[in-house]
Amino acid sequence: MTTTYTPPKQGAKVIIVGGGSFGLSTAYALSLKKYNVWVFDRNTIPSADASSTDINKCVRMDYGADTLSMQLTMEAFPHWHQWNRERAEMGLSPVFHNTGSLLLCKGNKLSDYERLSIQHVREAGYGHTIQEFLTPESITERFPEFKDAVASGYHCAYLNTAAGWCDSSETIKHLYKKCLDNGVHFITGYNQGAFEKFIFNNIDNQTVQGIQTRDGTQHVADHVILAAGPWTASLLDFGGRLQATGQAVIQFKPPQAFIEKFKHAPVYGIDISHTGFYGFPINAEGKMKIASHSVGYVNPWQQQEKNSEDNVSVPRTQVSHQGDTIPVKAVHHFRQILAEFMPETSNWDISYSRVCWYSDTPDGKFLVTPHPNYNNLIVASGDSGHAMKFTPNIGFKIAQVVEGIESDYSRAWAWRDHKGDMMTSSDGTRNITSKPLTLGVGEARMASADDLKSKQKSKL
Ligand SMILES: Cc1cc2nc3c(=O)[nH]c(=O)nc-3n(C[C@H](O)[C@H](O)[C@H](O)COP(=O)(O)OP(=O)(O)OC[C@H]3O[C@@H](n4cnc5c(N)ncnc54)[C@H](O)[C@@H]3O)c2cc1C
Repeated sequence: MTTTYTPPKQGAKVIIVGGGSFGLSTAYALSLKKYNVWVFDRNTIPSADASSTDINKCVRMDYGADTLSMQLTMEAFPHWHQWNRERAEMGLSPVFHNTGSLLLCKGNKLSDYERLSIQHVREAGYGHTIQEFLTPESITERFPEFKDAVASGYHCAYLNTAAGWCDSSETIKHLYKKCLDNGVHFITGYNQGAFEKFIFNNIDNQTVQGIQTRDGTQHVADHVILAAGPWTASLLDFGGRLQATGQAVIQFKPPQAFIEKFKHAPVYGIDISHTGFYGFPINAEGKMKIASHSVGYVNPWQQQEKNSEDNVSVPRTQVSHQGDTIPVKAVHHFRQILAEFMPETSNWDISYSRVCWYSDTPDGKFLVTPHPNYNNLIVASGDSGHAMKFTPNIGFKIAQVVEGIESDYSRAWAWRDHKGDMMTSSDGTRNITSKPLTLGVGEARMASADDLKSKQKSKL
């Protein structure tokens, strides 16, 4: 049953479920418009297992054919720089690190994703941010830290000087403070902050009257925004439009000599449109993160709730499963690609690993839209693994959707049907060649401490 969405009136009470990147960004934008904004989160913020809680995420405008996301990053950059100024005034470290991002390709030609990105960035008037390195010598001269990668056949690359990485947990803390300063109310914690169910008007069944939290308390609201990241799909029926997929992340603690060699390194893509792998400079704590933007893993609900008919994938994290690592298959993939790209890593133990969760849509575009069955419920999710960079400005676009204002964004992120059952990537950076494996089973069983050790030490 489809119903007509009614935007909130000024001063209306708006509940936002989820205090991650989407939820907080929206809370901040709405607080500037004088709504009465309440954010609920099942954890204290930053939530330990949220996808936005991490040491770093890439901030890039290079988006292949996805020019809308490119434009949104271009709009985000001034905010990132402003947030750095705010942090400096408070004596805090920057949230955005403008290291540039170097997209390396295997062979002598840039791939379609890189070529399209350059073309669109230039056409948008940002050509001054692009530097191409189309011979092996030009790469090693400018980036000696990638000498081994060049020797393994990564012979062309381009740098986008505007890009870099954000300290994602600090970003969330910064935005949380901005929300508090602006009068946003927060209810957080395992019992009082956790959304359990909606309260519906039992006459029309189309109006959400509020939410009930795990402790049984009912909270009334004029409007509700569901922004629970990868948990969103398990809170309401989306008819397959959202799916939580887990992505493997590893960290090394490189030795001092490597830290010295790598001290000017940018964020880097390891022929990303073919492999899905990318990595980061070493942070102030000596941690180097490498991640995989791939088809990922699922954790079907049925596996946990044997009686349930529902087959929705729910995040399995180190909060729900202490001691979890990443699948053995993922360890093999990381080791295999890094053996040629950054051979030193073969001698290092993986110091930390984690499965971090995306809220995927089949086409890789966000789902930010009124839910068609209710007249006052907005969904703000479907990040598809690439929304952290928009944390400072996505809330302004979501607020427009809440207020019923149409834009290119509202049209791209609308409620939509999908053909086929394979996921695609909005920009071609994601390595999707098969269906996701079930986490914890077979090749996707969790790696042991021994599996994470360096090649010499591990029995892998
Ligand atoms: C491995 C990995 C790498 C990534 N790399 C990048 C990158 O390089 N660049 C980039 O731009 N993006 C990246 N992303 C994507 C980015 O992290 C996400 O797009 C972004 O964090 C999505 O924010 P969110 O608010 O939707 O979800 P989250 O940040 O997960 O927030 C959801 C919130 O909802 C809360 N919640 C859940 N259930 C409930 C409930 N029942 N009641 C109350 N609260 C609830 C959670 O506690 C959490 O705080 C990456 C993601 C992952 C997993």
